[in-house]
Amino acid sequence: MKIKCTYAIEIGGVVKYIGSTKNFKRRIGEHMSGHKYKGKYAVISELILDSDDDIKFILLEKMPSSTKKERLFKEREHIESGLYRDIVNKAIPIREPWEHKELKKVYNQKNKDKKKEYDEVYRKVNKENKKEYDKVYYQKNKEKKNERKREKITCQCGKEYSRGSKTYHFKTLHHLNNFPIQKLLSTWYW
Ligand SMILES: [Zn+2]
Repeated sequence: MKIKCTYAIEIGGVVKYIGSTKNFKRRIGEHMSGHKYKGKYAVISELILDSDDDIKFILLEKMPSSTKKERLFKEREHIESGLYRDIVNKAIPIREPWEHKELKKVYNQKNKDKKKEYDEVYRKVNKENKKEYDKVYYQKNKEKKNERKREKITCQCGKEYSRGSKTYHFKTLHHLNNFPIQKLLSTWYW
């Protein structure tokens, strides 16, 4: 059955993304298979593929007979609620340019005393929405991630490493001695 809804993606216990869809299950599949946006991995897909933590898709609210616009408004409401502080959503859905300034003001003010509320609401939402999706997609996710980890990357130091051993490779003497120095500095922030 197609579920129209808004949803959150949680990685390692922290909500990283808010979305809306007319087909929840299909959308999960897209996220998990690292779907691309304008030819590049979407930020959230990168996070999902690279993360070793548990990924959870949390259904926020079902919106059975909603239009796309209604779902986007709801999605926006969540994003602007200040409850999800670590989301990587880049664009706020259907926001008019003139709103930016005003909203920012309100948002900053709101945010100050949101922490407690956030914890409470979040705990509740989380508890109520333990979905069977978790199980199904956990396995799929694992395979996908392992595959990605095995991906070979040729480093500018001249050696090849697999994505999964990136951190290790960056600490090897060969890498440190052969990687262009100006770039070496920037890798600390990866
Ligand atoms: Zn290297």
